[in-house]
Amino acid sequence: MALLDVKDLRTTFRTDDGLVKAVEGVSFSVEPGQTLGIVGESGSGKSVTCLTIMGLNDRRSAVTTGEAFFKGDDLLTMPSSKLRSIRGNEIAMIFQDPMTSLNPVHTIGWQLVEAVHLHQDVSRSQARASALDVLKAVGIPRADQRIDDYPHQFSGGMRQRVMIAMALINNPDLLLADEPTNALDVKPQAQILKLMGTLQKEFGSAIVLITHDLGVVAEIADDVVVMYGAQVVERATVNELFARPSMPYTWGLLGSLPRIDHDVERLAQIPGSPPSLLNPPTGCRFHPRCKYAMSICQSVMPELLAAGGSATHLSRCHLDQATRDAEIKKLESGHFAEVT
Ligand code: SF4
Repeated sequence: MALLDVKDLRTTFRTDDGLVKAVEGVSFSVEPGQTLGIVGESGSGKSVTCLTIMGLNDRRSAVTTGEAFFKGDDLLTMPSSKLRSIRGNEIAMIFQDPMTSLNPVHTIGWQLVEAVHLHQDVSRSQARASALDVLKAVGIPRADQRIDDYPHQFSGGMRQRVMIAMALINNPDLLLADEPTNALDVKPQAQILKLMGTLQKEFGSAIVLITHDLGVVAEIADDVVVMYGAQVVERATVNELFARPSMPYTWGLLGSLPRIDHDVERLAQIPGSPPSLLNPPTGCRFHPRCKYAMSICQSVMPELLAAGGSATHLSRCHLDQATRDAEIKKLESGHFAEVT
């Protein structure tokens, strides 16, 4: 049984301007100890997908349908008290900006001890010992002294390590990490990704990693979901996605990645902007930005179907296989598609 099994998840927000369909028919599963990367540009629906699973959307404006089974129980329909006891305990979240997630008026140690006490019946000294252990595990130097520092006394990279410690302190089965390295420079970013991989092995947690960066996915994920315009447009194992990416939006994301095995003067970029979710394009949501768009693309939304003959690889595109194969060949030889 999958640890997390999300089926046909849909989230709509009521706004003054109308209904915003932020997540439309998203399905995926995560096995114990595995990492799923959810990738896409801003506004693709990836963060709302995770907030919906965690029951963290504003209930006054959000309408949710579908199923999100965690260890066999549907997170979307369980009583709030049960969901609260799972959050921060069996499922933990790491947000992209640690400064807004940590309380500036309390020490790191106080906040970690509180996180333990919310879910475990242990003494204060036992909770503090756990806090110290987890700070050491995430690589905080002189953790026994720094445990009594405040968040502003830590650098950005160290604060993100503290957030990871906060997420791991109750030994969760599932970590939802929303752009955990977004606010960091390249070096601490690489260190945090390496740390997450190491801790995953040590703690055995599964990870859902939300990112706009396929390079990050390549580093850490087992499976990938590509989202565009609130929908899943491609789903595959990480090896399948990088070996045979199946549709133009994914080609565009890959084209914007720097590669050390090919010399290019400039990286390709996807022109235009992501679609408005208030009034999305008809047919394929990507058609206004896609150089391969045909007339059918403007009127008929492609289904998410098997791609490349693999049961684990799905994509949403009207292109025939010969055109896809030719484009994949170009990708392999380093001539990235300019999706214009
Ligand atoms: Fe491009 Fe058409 Fe495929 Fe959409 S369905 S990605 S517009 S070719």
